[in-house]
Amino acid sequence: VEGIARTAMLATTIRRKNIKKGLAFSVMIVGSSGLGKSTFVNTLCESPVFPKKDCGSPEKAALEKTVAITPVTVEMEEDGIKLSLTIVDTPGFGDNINNEGNFLDILAYIERQYDDILAEESRIKRNPKFYDNRVHALLYFIAPTGHSLRELDIEFMRRLGARANIIPVVAKSDSMNPAELAAFKKRVMEDIAYYKIPIYNFPYDDEEDDDETIEENNELRALLPFSVVGSEDEVVLNGRRMRCRQYPWGLVEVDNSRHCDFSKLRYMLLSSHLQDLKEITHDFLYEQYRTEKLSKEGE
Ligand code: GDP
Ligand code: MG
Repeated sequence: VEGIARTAMLATTIRRKNIKKGLAFSVMIVGSSGLGKSTFVNTLCESPVFPKKDCGSPEKAALEKTVAITPVTVEMEEDGIKLSLTIVDTPGFGDNINNEGNFLDILAYIERQYDDILAEESRIKRNPKFYDNRVHALLYFIAPTGHSLRELDIEFMRRLGARANIIPVVAKSDSMNPAELAAFKKRVMEDIAYYKIPIYNFPYDDEEDDDETIEENNELRALLPFSVVGSEDEVVLNGRRMRCRQYPWGLVEVDNSRHCDFSKLRYMLLSSHLQDLKEITHDFLYEQYRTEKLSKEGE
């Protein structure tokens, strides 16, 4: 009994520490260039993490392109819990004839974080300043072509899915009308099933889950791939500030779930499913990497 009480106390202490220090969570953004990845990050963090420079000329616009893998950590607060959110933006691809280089850089980044943990776990004396930088979720931006997945998307997602929780998103979804978007989403999910692309799966009826959780998971699963719209512009309408994209014919509101899935994606990512994403990363994806690596070394 004493042992159990002590373990419980220890758990509480660790939890308190986590809350005080803030939860650490890391999201990687992958997709072709020009799909609105940097804009999305600024929208998600509600701050100019990747400031938009003056891109009046084509030369400047090209300069603005993300050229390297750049992790940035933003301190924020979600539901009263401090969150240390690391965003890993990756260079867009698709405009090169050979995209293998980009892919290998992205994969190497993910595996390097696993290697760091592996080295830390085998040290006799732990480094108190060690920072776990593993990628907990990988948002994969799909071009809103209206057709289906491109070969490149299939290839990238299949290979990255073995190392990270992939959450597919339809980029710039304001470029499709609701019927087109629904049809596109359906085709994307059919491709994902057909090519056996391992994406993050919202937990299925777990015996421990209450009805509400099961319902929520079913709802979120049905939204896949999440449609997103990013914007740093704000307008005030009837005293309400909102982030939106303004067109001559009207407004697309980022946070309106009738316009896109941004707010639902943000909530699952940074709040409701954050812990599940972290657990899968540690218990399954990292464990798999570790096993593969150690058995290779033993050969
Ligand atoms: P990245 O290369 O993927 O990082 O893309 P950027 O964030 O730099 O955005 C490329 C262009 O797309 C910019 O002109 C953005 O203003 C625009 N953009 C970003 N998000 C959206 C969106 O949700 N819808 C539309 N229509 N345009 C967007
Ligand atoms: Mg960018």
